[in-house]
Amino acid sequence: MDAIVVGAGLVGAAAALALGDAGLQVTVVEAAPPPPAPVGWDSRMYAISPGSRELLQSFGVWQQLDAARIEPVLGMEVHGDRPGARIDFDALASGVPALAYIVEGGALARALWARLAAAEHVELRIGARPQSLAIDAADATLQLGDGTILKAPLVIGADGADSWVRQAGGIAVRSRGYAQRAVVANFRTALGHGGVARQWFRADGVLALLPLPGSMVSMVWSADETHADALLDMDAATLAQAVREASAESLGALEVVTPAAAFPLQLRVAASFVRPRLALVGDAAHNLHPLAGQGVNLGFRDVRALAQTLAARGPERDVGVLPLLRRFERSRREDVAAMVAATDGLHRLFSSRLPGVAALRNAGLSLAGRLPGLKSLLAQHAAA
Ligand SMILES: Cc1cc2nc3c(=O)[nH]c(=O)nc-3n(C[C@H](O)[C@H](O)[C@H](O)COP(=O)(O)OP(=O)(O)OC[C@H]3O[C@@H](n4cnc5c(N)ncnc54)[C@H](O)[C@@H]3O)c2cc1C
Repeated sequence: MDAIVVGAGLVGAAAALALGDAGLQVTVVEAAPPPPAPVGWDSRMYAISPGSRELLQSFGVWQQLDAARIEPVLGMEVHGDRPGARIDFDALASGVPALAYIVEGGALARALWARLAAAEHVELRIGARPQSLAIDAADATLQLGDGTILKAPLVIGADGADSWVRQAGGIAVRSRGYAQRAVVANFRTALGHGGVARQWFRADGVLALLPLPGSMVSMVWSADETHADALLDMDAATLAQAVREASAESLGALEVVTPAAAFPLQLRVAASFVRPRLALVGDAAHNLHPLAGQGVNLGFRDVRALAQTLAARGPERDVGVLPLLRRFERSRREDVAAMVAATDGLHRLFSSRLPGVAALRNAGLSLAGRLPGLKSLLAQHAAA
């Protein structure tokens, strides 16, 4: 065995498939049971970038998704909290068929797991949790809850924002609570969305309505905690009316299709993504505010970079040596830092109550909208 991947969320499952494509034998340790079969529409929707779609296509996973349940994002409208402050993005103008694709989280997880189960290079240990991690000159050794001992030259922490591997590896984490929760729900809309993702930066949080097939949208409302509680307590008709008003009536009357659920939000970034014989990917390495819809995309870019670095190691067999892992970390630092700065910066800017900041942030948004160079740079980054 060449590597142990702890965690088979979207990023861990992708890591196991990518390492297999790089010629490695992998054991996957996952605490949770397989993702359940769907009931109606999933309330967790992901904006998958064109770059992430390519990765999923290379695994043969994208092709297994039901195309009728995927919506391409053809345009984006981002509104400030003053009338007229907005920036628009357009797929055609950016030279891509779509800015992103909205996909159900459950469907993506099931398709990835189906490929994992069929992959010859992957051994799955489902319902298992590691109890201890020891790292020596030759191996990382994991002991599982049932006493099983696993040994490999490399262990990969893909076990999410509360990563056990990160803690067991003694890697510090920088964290900041946002005192916000993301409230998600799906709605049917009276007016067509035209394939456009809409987002409103408000003093009380960020509201996004992402287009879904037919006349439906997926809401992510990152709201202050008291506001999030209020949204969760509303009956369906009151919630639909609140979202209709907050979205400036842009999609007409709304009707709840999937009831509201909430997720706590915080920023957590690992001080280092690697140690000898250990690498972190996905939320285990960086857990961001979802306002840019980039967490999974960033994690998939970690996966691509790790697999490429390991595949390019030359005649050296050992995939766990620090110089090699540092190469992976260096290749990821800039992208992660840029995404942390963008999401955390926008959150701070739009949650500020300081006099003058509101006028400045709205003027900045309008100005960015009129600078085609800046706009295409932003669009290119989001597409990666
Ligand atoms: C409201 C909201 C909307 C979002 N929208 C988007 C979006 O549109 N686009 C986007 O790119 N990102 C989005 N994100 C971010 C995205 O959800 C995360 O970045 C992504 O789910 C991280 O995936 P992961 O596989 O790294 O971690 P996780 O999904 O947390 O998976 C971790 C896995 O590890 C397992 N595990 C944990 N501990 C252990 C253990 N000790 N032993 C074994 N297994 C373990 C868990 O069971 C789980 O399966 C959004 C986030 C939120 C909150």
